Amino acid sequence: MQFHIMTLFPDMVKTGLCTSIIGRAQRDGILQVDTWNIRDYTLEKHGHVDDYPYGGGAGMLMQADPILRCYRAISARCSQAPRVIYTTPQGMLFTQSAAKALAKEDVLVILCGHYEGVDERALSLLNAECYSIGDYVLTGGELPAMVMADAISRMVPGVLKNRESGEEESFEGDLLEYPQYTRPDCYEGLLVPPVLLSGDHGKVNAWRREQSLRRTLLRRPDLLRTAELGKQDLEFLSRLGYSPETAEDG
Ligand code: SAM
Repeated sequence: MQFHIMTLFPDMVKTGLCTSIIGRAQRDGILQVDTWNIRDYTLEKHGHVDDYPYGGGAGMLMQADPILRCYRAISARCSQAPRVIYTTPQGMLFTQSAAKALAKEDVLVILCGHYEGVDERALSLLNAECYSIGDYVLTGGELPAMVMADAISRMVPGVLKNRESGEEESFEGDLLEYPQYTRPDCYEGLLVPPVLLSGDHGKVNAWRREQSLRRTLLRRPDLLRTAELGKQDLEFLSRLGYSPETAEDG
């Protein structure tokens, strides 16, 4: 899979995505992350890419022209016009299921905004899909682009090795993952739950399922509305005081 990230700070994005699993996947040729400096595409003689917003107000806006020129340079390298994502706090919330869906693309372009954002016409012309990484405002789209590229990449076949498998993780089936432990079995007086040392896989799985349900109920009860719950799950949850009819948001 190929990412093309349009940004005013390419070094920040390059550095952020060149280590650990995502860095390894690039070296293995499974992923390609290209950063594009929007400033290279301005025709303005001083290299400006921003200007004051029409109608007044605080801050500066990124102009449409350098963004469009940059996108066209990317497009010229692709066999068909690639899908564009704009990172913005005004977008729909980026979730694990969005990451999974986007991982099916061969090529994705991510546009990072800065200052007060970008001229709306750039977004229309690029037919950009808007995604937010959460209900807070960051100074730029570089961190969101890295967050999204990382989460999407993990869902690309071959990026995670078997031992890093993403199959039993939080948000699978809309549940949070169960608590985990590693050696030693006693640390500062705290013991690993004995069932995990029992060697009985059936019991371990049952315990993990219950812990997963318990943790989701405590921390993210909103997820339970869409979670895949069986009869036994519902019985367990009802013993903890949960009822689907009276479920409240987390
Ligand atoms: N004026 C914009 C607004 O009120 O919606 C906020 C602009 S923000 C200071 C600058 C840039 O950071 C945005 O254009 C966007 O690319 C990025 N950004 C900030 N917060 C974000 C978030 N929660 N999710 C995704 N991108 C975000």
